[in-house]
Amino acid sequence: MTGRRHVGRAAAAALVALAATALLEALALPDGPPPADRPLLVAATPPGQLPLRDHARHAPRQRRVSLVPPGRGAVRVPVLMYHYIRVNPDPNDKVGFNLSVRPEDFARQMDWLAAAGYHPIDFDDLRGYLLGGGDLPDRPVVLTFDDGYRDLYTVAFPVLRAHRFKAVAYIVAGFVGSPVSVTPEQVLEMDANGIEIGSHTVSHADLTKLSGSNLWHEVFDSRAALEALLGHPVLDFCYPAGRYDDAVVRAVQAAGYATATTTQPGQVHSAGDRHLWTRVRVDGGESLEQFVADLGPGEPGEMVVQPAPPPGPLHGPARRPVTVPLVAPREALLAGPPIEGALP
Ligand SMILES: [Zn+2]
Repeated sequence: MTGRRHVGRAAAAALVALAATALLEALALPDGPPPADRPLLVAATPPGQLPLRDHARHAPRQRRVSLVPPGRGAVRVPVLMYHYIRVNPDPNDKVGFNLSVRPEDFARQMDWLAAAGYHPIDFDDLRGYLLGGGDLPDRPVVLTFDDGYRDLYTVAFPVLRAHRFKAVAYIVAGFVGSPVSVTPEQVLEMDANGIEIGSHTVSHADLTKLSGSNLWHEVFDSRAALEALLGHPVLDFCYPAGRYDDAVVRAVQAAGYATATTTQPGQVHSAGDRHLWTRVRVDGGESLEQFVADLGPGEPGEMVVQPAPPPGPLHGPARRPVTVPLVAPREALLAGPPIEGALP
């Protein structure tokens, strides 16, 4: 599509321009399984009647699945927090070590999630459940990747695709295209293949140290830049280094984000605290036993029989049409909506 490619190139150029200033400012960042889905033939042949030769081909195919039914006000959904998927290059860099999950450890963690019947969902799914009355697969989990490092695309993404796992990538808009970050093309490819793109500001600034137009630039312009690149709304935000206060949360709400995540630990989420959702940190070097223990028991489901989905790709080429206007009043910052999650 010529139009989309044109928009993508223009947005990519804008992102590269943002990167130049952002990089100068921040060269270093702080910071027993349930039954598997079984095909089930339920159209039985009545007694005394010969089955048709091609009966099975035309029988309605159904399957038994375990779902979290609509209506639970709070659900246990561990939101796992990853940064680098790499071998930490500097043994003396303790922070870098803690933020770096080795590729073989990451692969084992994803294998374990699949074998144990966990279902990676994205924030579209979680929002749809808590705000829209949908259902969820049992044992839901969200895999988030902060900062948009290049190894998100080169190392994590192939593993996620092999498992057909959804995930969420929090992209620092001003870093896209830098030597250590994902490129605009990689962001587009991931977006089209199961990775939900969220915003992690323009320059990974400590938002509690900003106000007025500087705060708005980080929160809103990052969203606008990513939306221009992707061609659809970006509704999920992540506070850099987990730093936020009431003014920051209000700015995130005013900029139109539907959710935001922190670095505070926790697993249970509701609609009311959706701008302060907690996460589960996955540390570099942690054992698989620790990873499993941190996940907790998972949200239980209920068995239902439903039509088997038609064969086809897990994710379509485009997630959502653009329906959210890209211009929001800056005055909203001053008279923002109430901060639900920050209230007792
Ligand atoms: Zn970050």
